[in-house]
Amino acid sequence: MKIQDVKLVSFTHTIRCDKCGSEKQHDEPGFEEFTSIEHHCGYTTVEDDGKHIEIDLCYPCFKELLGPYWRVRSNRIDNLQAKQDNPELPGEFVDDVVASMKECLEQKLERYEPGKHE
Ligand SMILES: [Zn+2]
Repeated sequence: MKIQDVKLVSFTHTIRCDKCGSEKQHDEPGFEEFTSIEHHCGYTTVEDDGKHIEIDLCYPCFKELLGPYWRVRSNRIDNLQAKQDNPELPGEFVDDVVASMKECLEQKLERYEPGKHE
């Protein structure tokens, strides 16, 4: 038997960009586009050793500051997860997954050397 109860759970109601000061509430478009970074500085950081640093950035500021350095990954894996979460996604998704799987298999076949893997 499970005996139910209710408890209060904290959540981020509003997030504010530490660079430009823009704010979004949890139910507003753009809230999910904020990036939060936390880092605990170790002894090799010398003067920051032991500090726990945090920063929250809206997407425009995140892109302005880090965009020149970021790497853009293919979203095929994300699409696969999205398809699992929502089977009603359009058929072009399936084409994308099939193309991705074909590409992966072709790469593996190119590396396959008969006799070496027996
Ligand atoms: Zn900002």
